[in-house]
Amino acid sequence: MNLNCEIVMDLIALYQDGLASPSTKTAVAAHLAHCPSCSREYALYRKYCKNPTRLRNIPSEYAPKENFLRLANRIRHRRMLLRIGMISYVCASFCMILLMARMKNRLI
Ligand SMILES: [Zn+2]
Repeated sequence: MNLNCEIVMDLIALYQDGLASPSTKTAVAAHLAHCPSCSREYALYRKYCKNPTRLRNIPSEYAPKENFLRLANRIRHRRMLLRIGMISYVCASFCMILLMARMKNRLI
């Protein structure tokens, strides 16, 4: 798969999070290995992903990237909330099943 820089920048969040398919990961890694521009942007993305509070300090030359990074962080935050919601749902369901089993045993 031969990717251009624009497509690589679109895929970089998926690549960083390990959510891209194996063929996409291979293609993005190959592109990053030979494209200094994308490699630099990826390094910047990784740097700000490690410490999202630094987003406020991004120099103005990176202003367009700031929107991209904020969007990526918002997506990551929503994914985390979704995971917490799913775990809470499973725990609540498990507790309800236990409670119903106990009540059933008391009635018999
Ligand atoms: Zn590139």
